[in-house]
Amino acid sequence: MFNLSRYFSTLSLVMIVLAGGLLGYFYNRLSVAQLVMMAEDRNVAMTNVFRNTLWPRYGEFLRHVDASDAGRLRAAPQIGQLHAEISAQMFGTDVIKAKVYNHAGRTVYSSDPLQIGEDKSGNAGFRAALNGKVASELTHRNDFSAFEGALSDLDVISSYIPIRNFKGEVEGVFELYQNVTAFLTQLRQTLWWIAGGVMSIFSLLYFAQFLVVRHAHRILREQGDELERTNRELDARVKERTSELESANQLLEAEIAERRTAEARLDHLAHHDPLTGLPNRLLFNNQLERSLNRAARNALQMAVLFIDLDHFKDVNDSLGHAIGDQLLKAVAIRLAHDTRAMDTLARLGGDEFICLIEDIHGPNDADTVARKILDQFALPFLIGENEFHLTASIGISLYPSDGGTVDALVRNADTAMYKAKSQGRNSSHFYAAEMTEYAIERLRLEGLLRRSIENRELSLHYQPQVDGLTRRLLGAEALVRWNQPELGAVSPVRFIPIAEETGFILTLGEWVLREACRQVSEWDRQGFYLPRISVNLSVKQIERSNIVELVSTILAGSGLAPERLELEITESVIMAVDDSLAILNKLRQLGIKLSVDDFGTGYSSLSYLKLLPISKLKIDRAFVVGIGENAGDEAIIRTIVALAQSLGLELIAEGVETAVQNEFLSSTGCPSIQGYLHGRPADPDVFRCTWE
Ligand code: C2E
Ligand code: MG
Ligand code: MG
Repeated sequence: MFNLSRYFSTLSLVMIVLAGGLLGYFYNRLSVAQLVMMAEDRNVAMTNVFRNTLWPRYGEFLRHVDASDAGRLRAAPQIGQLHAEISAQMFGTDVIKAKVYNHAGRTVYSSDPLQIGEDKSGNAGFRAALNGKVASELTHRNDFSAFEGALSDLDVISSYIPIRNFKGEVEGVFELYQNVTAFLTQLRQTLWWIAGGVMSIFSLLYFAQFLVVRHAHRILREQGDELERTNRELDARVKERTSELESANQLLEAEIAERRTAEARLDHLAHHDPLTGLPNRLLFNNQLERSLNRAARNALQMAVLFIDLDHFKDVNDSLGHAIGDQLLKAVAIRLAHDTRAMDTLARLGGDEFICLIEDIHGPNDADTVARKILDQFALPFLIGENEFHLTASIGISLYPSDGGTVDALVRNADTAMYKAKSQGRNSSHFYAAEMTEYAIERLRLEGLLRRSIENRELSLHYQPQVDGLTRRLLGAEALVRWNQPELGAVSPVRFIPIAEETGFILTLGEWVLREACRQVSEWDRQGFYLPRISVNLSVKQIERSNIVELVSTILAGSGLAPERLELEITESVIMAVDDSLAILNKLRQLGIKLSVDDFGTGYSSLSYLKLLPISKLKIDRAFVVGIGENAGDEAIIRTIVALAQSLGLELIAEGVETAVQNEFLSSTGCPSIQGYLHGRPADPDVFRCTWE
């Protein structure tokens, strides 16, 4: 640390010494100047005395005497007299020597006779005095010849003083030497005293100041130390606080990171399907929205593929959700495998997936992707030990032709998907504007249909099945009718597919079965005997495993003998349901009959048919129409007849409208006939009246 007291003491010392030196110097100068002035005054006064007393008498001589001859002048009696008078006059004073110069600068008198005759005309003092000024000088002389003899070590003030006449004119110059040794000694002594005193005071001051400074320095140092300590403490606290903050910061960062991951997880959950990990509807819609903006800006085309698994609900219903979930996962993996990275595949829920294909060049590209997706389903899915054969239906909507908004594109793809389903599933279908009308109608019908039972809008009509030759009543087919107050009679061709798609068919089918059995039993009680009642069974009803219990319960409830009930199933049931054989066997074991409706239009293989517990084939109306007109149809009918005979199956033909058809069928080996020729479907009362 900077040493304050040392700095101050050094500085003060220098200042004091400087001040003391200066003081002494100026005091000395001043005193000497004063001394010179005093001595000069005295010399002037002495000169006045000389001029007044001696000059009137000797002046004349001194002014005019020839000073070049110094020896003669020295010996002149006036000089001796003057010397005696001057010596007398100067006696007792400090004047120790006197000289007189004439106008030319020659020494005409000196108390030291050796100097008489000297030329002082060049002397500055002399010249000044000649000009009327007094000039004095202080000199130190080692030896000096004074009035009273030789002196040594003297301080002398010599003054050149003009000698004026009464008119004031300078007539000569008087030089006086005054001995100021005693004065000067005195002066020097005083000076020493003063210097000593001043130095002592200064020293005291210095000492006091030194003490003060040292004290101040000590205080400052203590304060400095204190400050340093405080600083150190502060430093330590800052460090401590910093590390505290750092660790708090680390905690905070960890917390933030944790929150971020939680948020990311939440975000992921919010935007993804937890089962398959695929984006969900929300994320898909967002992506589609973004892609729409991009496509609009860059005039790009896109396609939305709405993918729905066929009959998936039945897997869930029959095998449980665990298997269903695993199957969905497997499907998701396959679908994801085949979509490009830039395409967005999402699961909308249930068995519905949706895929956005960007930057396509036209419908063909979308069709190619749809085909690829359908191909993915060609191989069975393996879950545990089970193999599942799945198919999917795909609806395609295109941007910009089929809609410009997320809603429109998704809705229209959905509509197209339903079209694909209604056209036999396992296919894809492009959206067309008219589908929307169908979809709207479908939606409306669906809503109305759900209330049809409680509103008692459903009824059953019965169509006779007779022996084509004898017209004997063999049985009847129960056909459902929907009389909707606003829409009027709605054909089952319209509402049965909707009921099947929405699952309402289960309720409806149960109602039909119950009602048909009830009606026949009632007719029994009324004495009208109908040998057999045929009830149509939807594929959905078969797929539901409890159909067997349902049938047996209804039979038991109505008291109808099982052999009087016949269930009509289509070939598609046999093809679509995996364990249809088991279910059909159980139904058969109840004692009821099974017939294959619309036979010939499906693709049932002969070998498979042999295994089925069916008792009757129902020749489809499509072949019957061709009788008498289309040899091919007749050939098919003949083949079916031969097939039925070889398998020991009963036969019936439906849609018989003409006698020709009736004749052909009866003679070919199909005596059982159903069709308008023998009777249209009619309400129970009309039917009973007609056939009782
Ligand atoms: P389907 O089982 O093949 O029923 C025969 C259909 O052919 C009936 O039409 C019947 O009215 C019609 N039909 C009968 N004879 C003739 C004829 O000589 N000429 C013409 N052109 N048509 C004839 P419907 O009643 O409109 O039923 C249509 C289809 O609706 C049925 O075909 C059946 O698949 C389904 N369906 C009707 N009722 C039910 C039901 O209660 N349950 C189920 N699951 N499906 C039903
Ligand atoms: Mg039928
Ligand atoms: Mg039919």
